[in-house]
Parts: sequence; structure tokens; C-alpha cells
Amino acid sequence: MTQTASSGIDELRTAIDGTVIAPHDAGYDDARQVWNADIDRRPGVVAQCVSAEDVRAAVLFGVRNGLEIAVRGGAHSMYGASTVDEGLMIDLSRMNQVTVDPETKRAWVGGGALLGELDAAAQAHGLATPAGTVSHTGVAGLTLGGGMGWLTRQFGLSLDNVLSVQVVTADGRILRAAADENPDLYWAVRGGGGNFGVVTEFEFRLHEVGPMVQYGMLFWGLDQAAEMLRTARRLLPTLPPDTNILIAAISAPPAPFVPEQYHFQPGLALNVVGFGGPERHEEVLASIREAAPAPLFEFVTPMPYTALQQMIDEPNGWGHYCYDKGSYFEELTDELDQVIVEQVARKTSPLSSVLIFRLDNAYSAVGDDDTAFSGGRSPRYAMFIIAVCPVPEMLAGERAWVRSFWDALQPHTLGIGSYVNAMSENEFDRVKASYGEEKYARLARIKAEYDPDNVFRRNANIVPAQP
Ligand code: FAD
Repeated sequence: MTQTASSGIDELRTAIDGTVIAPHDAGYDDARQVWNADIDRRPGVVAQCVSAEDVRAAVLFGVRNGLEIAVRGGAHSMYGASTVDEGLMIDLSRMNQVTVDPETKRAWVGGGALLGELDAAAQAHGLATPAGTVSHTGVAGLTLGGGMGWLTRQFGLSLDNVLSVQVVTADGRILRAAADENPDLYWAVRGGGGNFGVVTEFEFRLHEVGPMVQYGMLFWGLDQAAEMLRTARRLLPTLPPDTNILIAAISAPPAPFVPEQYHFQPGLALNVVGFGGPERHEEVLASIREAAPAPLFEFVTPMPYTALQQMIDEPNGWGHYCYDKGSYFEELTDELDQVIVEQVARKTSPLSSVLIFRLDNAYSAVGDDDTAFSGGRSPRYAMFIIAVCPVPEMLAGERAWVRSFWDALQPHTLGIGSYVNAMSENEFDRVKASYGEEKYARLARIKAEYDPDNVFRRNANIVPAQP
């Protein structure tokens, strides 16, 4: 950080109501931490904002002092987009308020809220909106890129449920964007990530959900995995939209419902979540049991929606050393199944996993160009290969595993593009390929209008179009 900027920190302290933390201040090491322990950056200053006006002052401070700006929501960016060496971290974690209007089924959510905070406030009224599967993830980063989770087959992505946003732009304007106001910005923030400014508030549409939902997990060993995947291919697209499916290649957890001889054994789990009541759920499970080989074990139980949303929080907790890559597939094929089974056998950390979301129904009811989302809306599978290591020494090997797995998948994917929220590094070619030429060009034009100097570039970056 430059001398001018360090002397300016006091100016920032007086300009915002929130807290400003510099490297020599108490609490600096906590303030700079992000979810992935492999990311260890040292911002020159952290601005913990408490209002849109604070965010405006922080953005203007950063621009004036020529500081690289990182915007921190839930801090779950795998490659550390929300932190920066030497520059300014604008931390929104204290802007985590959630207000729900049960009459209109709307929620207003601060730009630093976590999924668990949104879920809890909405479920107090028996409501929810699609979100991710780990409740300590940030609403903002997840939603601005997409947001896939247990409700996606029924109600679409998180971003499909955004009705309006409040955004602080690079020149310090505080704008509202919705279908009837700044519609280009409204389109761009629904998929274009943090490229267009700092979102200080989201307005979401809510749906009636739960409070109890039905959960079922069936687990097969790797020797049965190819057969199970063949069954899944036939069955999953036919399931009712209020059933959501996640195929997970995991090591069986040492949980009470897992027979001891299978603890830590790698295999494939079919996670089936039913929102249509216990009878419908039992019918779905019966159809799976009839079509698939007998699982090694299964676990079926009703649970509160909020518990479902927290079910895998612990194995995905802060402080692990992580890396991931993602791809889309039109179909599960014999060749693809073979790659999956072979590669899953090679993971070395019991916490590493492969997650495959089935995306169709409500996901596919939205037009490709209705939002800026980085992925077509035809029915498909989204796959994430996730290395999670308890100690740093394991990460090099697991990172190599993720990369070789991803390379082996390439002949079978819908192209080299992927969901921008699952990008491991800031790879410009993959960003463009993920949006496609036309959508990327439109995003680049909007970027040129709202952020011509690319102030917000710590993201899957869209380079402003040249005039
Ligand atoms: P951050 O690191 O804070 O931010 C990520 C990006 O968004 C950065 O570029 C940041 O600058 C920008 N940003 C953050 N807040 C704002 C804001 N208010 N305004 C403007 N820009 C902002 N994705 C799914 O779709 N479904 C899942 O189930 C899912 N599960 C996950 C589980 C784990 C454990 C992890 C680590 C990730 C998961 N993801 C999932 C991916 C997730 O969507 C992305 O990592 C997302 O970017 C996290 O958002 P965040 O706010 O926590 O991250």
C-alpha cells in the first residue's frame, strides 16, 4: 500500500460508520481470513461497512488511492476473489440483515448475509428461496453467479428469484436495478457476478417450503457405481419437479447411520430431497430401489428445511485447503460414467467430493438470454470436482487429481465453459466460453457503462468493451 493510502486510512475511518482495520490493528488476522485456508492474502486495509453509504465511501477511497478492490460477501470464493494483497477489502459481512414480508412473499437481504440467515428469516414464515447447499456460503457471491441447490428443479436458480438489487457503482452512485429501472444492470447482475458494482441489498421472491421436508440418501460402493449411474440416467429426468437430486461421490461419513465397515469407503450417494410430502417421497424412493442395484446402506428421514440446508456444513467448514473445477454435461453416458468411476477411486482426501446436480424443470423454464447466467438452460447436469484437504501438505496431490479428472471429462462436456462460481482460477478464456460470445459481448458493453476502468476485477472478469 502506498504512503498516500496509509495516511488516508484515517480519512476512511472518519468517512464510514463501520470499522476500518489496518495490518497493525488488533483483529487484522481475523478480518483478512477467507473460507479456503489455502488463500493467505494481506490486504492493505479492510473496510467493514455497515451501510450502502459506507460502501460508497470505501469504493471512492479505493479508486482515489489507486487500490485494487476486493469485495467480500461470505468469503467462499474458492480462488480467493474476495481478498487481495495490499489493496482494499470491502467487507460486507456486517450488512447481513434480512427482512421478510410474508404477505407479498418477499425478502430484502443485505449484501453480506449468509444463506443460513436468509433461510432462518424466511422459514420463520414457512418460506424459502433457492439457495446453495452449505449455509455458511454468502448470499451475494452465490446469487450473482447463479445459485444451485435443493430447490432448483422446483423454483430455478437463486438469481431467477431476484426481483431487484441496490448496487454501488465504481463512480459511487447508489442505484436500484429491477425490470423497470436500469434493466440492463438488472440483467447483468443476474449471472455476471460482482463485475458491475457492490450489491448492498437483494430483493428475493419467496415460495412456500416445508417447514418439514423429506430426505433420503442411498449409498453404493464404487463397484456398483457404473450401474447406479446408468439407472440414474434413466430415472432422474422423470422424477417430479418437487423432488431434487444430487449425486455425490464421497467417502461414507463415520455417521451413526453408516455401518462401521463402510466408514470412509468411497462410493456414490444419491441424495433425494422431497418437497411433496412423505408419500410422494416414498414412491420416488421405491422407484429408485426397484431400478437400481441394492445400496450398501440408506438413510431416510423427514427433517426441517433449515436442517437440510445445514446438513453438510461441517465437512465443508472453514479452514480446509481447497481447490475446485466444474463442467456441464448434457447426458450421463457410458463413457462419462467410466471416467467418473475411475477418477473417484483416485481421490486421496476423504473430504474431497464430486457433486452432480440435475438441472431441469424450473431451471429450464427460464430463457437462455433472460438472465446473464453462465450456462445454457437446456436440461443438463452440473458437475463440481472439489478437493478438500485437512492439511496443506495434501493439497498439491488433490489439486493434480482435480485437474486430471477435469481434463479426462473434456471430451464429454458441453464445452470448456462452466458455471462461473465453480471456477478455480481467473481464466479469461473460460470466462468468455462460459457465457458464450454473444452474452459476453453484451456483458462487456454493460461493464463499459458501469465500470469502464474495471475497478471490480477480482471475479470471473468481464473486460469492459472498447468504445
Ligand atoms: P465471496 O468470496 O465473498 O465472493 C465471491 C465473489 O462475489 C467475489 O468476486 C466477490 O467480489 C463477489 N461478491 C461477494 N459479495 C458481493 C457483493 N455484495 N456485491 C458484489 N460482489 C460481491 N454454489 C452453488 O451454486 N450451490 C452450492 O450449493 C454451493 N455450495 C458451495 C459450498 C461451499 C463450501 C463453497 C466454498 C462454495 C459453494 N458454492 C455453491 C459456490 C459459491 O456459489 C461461490 O463460491 C460464491 O462465490 C460464494 O459467494 P460468497 O459471497 O460466499 O463469496
